Amino acid sequence: MRKQIIAGNWKMHTDLAEATILVEGIKAALTEGEVSREVVVCPPFTGLSTVADLIEDTEVRLGAQNMYFEPKGAFTGEVSPLMLTDVGCHYVILGHSERREYFGETDALINQKIKAAFQYDLIPILCVGESLAQREANETQTFINSQLTAGLADLTAEQVSQMVIAYEPIWAIGTGKTATAEQAGEVCTAIRAKVAELFDKETAEVLRIQYGGSVKGSNAQEILSQLDIDGALVGGASLKADDFMAIIKA
Ligand code: PEP
Repeated sequence: MRKQIIAGNWKMHTDLAEATILVEGIKAALTEGEVSREVVVCPPFTGLSTVADLIEDTEVRLGAQNMYFEPKGAFTGEVSPLMLTDVGCHYVILGHSERREYFGETDALINQKIKAAFQYDLIPILCVGESLAQREANETQTFINSQLTAGLADLTAEQVSQMVIAYEPIWAIGTGKTATAEQAGEVCTAIRAKVAELFDKETAEVLRIQYGGSVKGSNAQEILSQLDIDGALVGGASLKADDFMAIIKA
């Protein structure tokens, strides 16, 4: 059985006061009932240390939104995997479409980052997903397969079985447009099949696949009930404790 994982990507939002209020709200709500899903919060770098302290005695796990692949050195403005583990991160989001689009991240760079994440004991959440033009041209799966082939190159089956892949159609991120549960489920099934082809069936069965793209309390249950969807990567709706909790408890 794969444990579902709900991760909040706070993007470039929250100062320390806002981050504290948000985490306290999540913590309070989590004490109110049994939660079977794993909960991860991914604040901006500046909030990691504060949030790490706040979640210390809880089951909530900490993730970063990006990192560089070198452990240290003259790389002005970058943050290393060692720095992330030092501050208490367990996960790191890699290859988010905003990183690919605005910062020119390539599959090859993302692959280097994934390998570095494993080297320094971080679990990568690899984001893949097609643009609207690619979906309309029926290129969704071909494109995602190429992202998977390049992004997972040179990894071991053991590593891949531990990681998380987030299927995030670019046209659904922050737009209020959500893929239908069937559309999302179909692509996640195809991602699992591709991983089985690249590695093996056992690895593909263990790997967790999230859907991301305008997930909210009102659509979470339908999305999360799809066979091959093992959780959600949540942007906008992770910025308010009530909205995030509605997804966690959906
Ligand atoms: C994201 O940024 O990963 C995301 C899914 O954002 P949103 O939920 O706001 O669409």
